[in-house]
Amino acid sequence: MQHRNSFILPDILNGKCPKCRRGNIYLNKGVFPLGGSLKTVDHCPDCRQKINVSDNAPGINYALSVVVYFFGFVLYACIWGITYKDNSFITSFLFSTAIVVLLQPWLMRLSKTIYIYLFTKFG
Ligand SMILES: [Zn+2]
Repeated sequence: MQHRNSFILPDILNGKCPKCRRGNIYLNKGVFPLGGSLKTVDHCPDCRQKINVSDNAPGINYALSVVVYFFGFVLYACIWGITYKDNSFITSFLFSTAIVVLLQPWLMRLSKTIYIYLFTKFG
């Protein structure tokens, strides 16, 4: 196997092939248009590795959403603070929910990429 670099995270974030890390596994470069953001190629255009596309990885997406929700909560607490004396607790939940919803196209794509990296059989 020949890798472009030793760090796997940039290749996961860019949606590169899990085997050669050069070819794109998504048909669209970005998440827009949203309808085609999760469409993958059948085989890597660079190394012909078969890309597993049987699942949209809802479990991984759920885990990522929970992590982002938590960081949204912490971000709100750092910027505006949370106290029991006013509605800041409810506002922080709404803030976190908005962040998770707005980032969902990227989270879905990232979770599918992680799924592909975990379950692709090389050969
Ligand atoms: Zn490849």
